[in-house]
Amino acid sequence: MGGLVVTAEAEAKADVLVRDGLIAAVVTGISPPEGAEVIDAQGCLVIPGGVDAHTHLDLTVARAHVSDGWAAGGRAAAFGGTTTVIEHPGFGPAGCSLFHQLNTYRQNAAEAVIDYGLHGVFQHWNERVAAELPQAVSAGFPSFKTYMTYDGRLADEDFLAALKALGQAGGLMTVHAENHAVVSHLAAQLKRSAPHLAASHPQSRPDYAEALAIETAIALARAAGDAPLYIVHLSTAKGLEAVRAARRAGQPVWAETCPQYLLLTDVCYDGDFDEALKYVMAPPPRKKADVEGLWEGLADGSIDVVATDHCSFSWRTKKELAGGNIFNCPGGVPGVETRLALLYSEGVVKRGMSLRRWIDLSATAPARLFGLPGKGDIKVGAEADLVIFDPQAEQKITAASLRQAADYTPFEGLTVRGRARTVFLRGRKIVDGEDFLAAPGQGKFMARRPFSA
Ligand SMILES: [Zn+2]
Repeated sequence: MGGLVVTAEAEAKADVLVRDGLIAAVVTGISPPEGAEVIDAQGCLVIPGGVDAHTHLDLTVARAHVSDGWAAGGRAAAFGGTTTVIEHPGFGPAGCSLFHQLNTYRQNAAEAVIDYGLHGVFQHWNERVAAELPQAVSAGFPSFKTYMTYDGRLADEDFLAALKALGQAGGLMTVHAENHAVVSHLAAQLKRSAPHLAASHPQSRPDYAEALAIETAIALARAAGDAPLYIVHLSTAKGLEAVRAARRAGQPVWAETCPQYLLLTDVCYDGDFDEALKYVMAPPPRKKADVEGLWEGLADGSIDVVATDHCSFSWRTKKELAGGNIFNCPGGVPGVETRLALLYSEGVVKRGMSLRRWIDLSATAPARLFGLPGKGDIKVGAEADLVIFDPQAEQKITAASLRQAADYTPFEGLTVRGRARTVFLRGRKIVDGEDFLAAPGQGKFMARRPFSA
């Protein structure tokens, strides 16, 4: 009671009544029903639980496993005010069924402490996958990912066929857009000449490789009959221009970026080699002009979602596997715990982003695009995923003070304003200050609805 309720549409002082896990009323001056627990939110924002549309809480790549898994990763998310994640599974065995990874990830998520959905992944395209696709969409998996680089990438003709089939089945294609020929050619050269330099990593993945891949993806989606397309972890101003041009032409294209591309630049690769391993991710952080360009994209609406691509290989694992070669370092950074506060502090406080936009980017838009109608909003009938967010609280981000299982954060030492104080998942309190109250398995699998523009 008594907080400023913020949604993507409005902000107003109001009380929120929760019954049976759902929001029963949003009104001012409510008189609480007998026996109801009253939570004081004076001086705080009451916001929908965050929806992180891009996580890897549970990923194994080659020899490395991420440091958190569903229980620890979900706990970290919850402390940061995120109550739902949509996980991108890694690749399954060669030639596997479309359902292989979805089933495996669901089994592994038995310990989940917050709600979760799963994106599908295309790692090859053939008649069997095409036949399984409509079934997968109606089973609650209306979004799939295609990679344009890495070993599981699709060739353009397969990508086009997948775009068309997914669009027709009521799904949304998400894409990791980096041009494989450019990246693999440059990486091969730098592997020979300068593998011991951290700066070889960003040099092997230039901004034009992203922009070219985005342009290709957009052209393929257009040829596929304007199939809906969502660019994950957009990192460059050039790539954003391609997204803007497609949208101006009326094509259904959406874009996501992540805090690391809004806050970091490639100077993170200039210092000590081991220190730089913390920032190995693909795509890499870019130039200051890209950072500014992405903030403009958030401001003018050409970027729709801020997710994290949370992928927390520990620093120790990164150092061990790199063994002095930047190209052997597993890519990915933790971020699921810091997303909401970073976007609030750097966006709302420092850059004048509206509270509504903050909520739209971090909860409402991802819920809408990825078929979670009960999530990401505070309205009668929605699931009571609520965060009491203290806008005045200051926190210094350090690996030691975060609940994540990783032993570092790419935002070490940054002081931010705002902090999730109390968090509810479907009406049940799961975070209360320093206390975590959710039990393993309390998080629910969310079968998502088909995509609608
Ligand atoms: Zn990812």
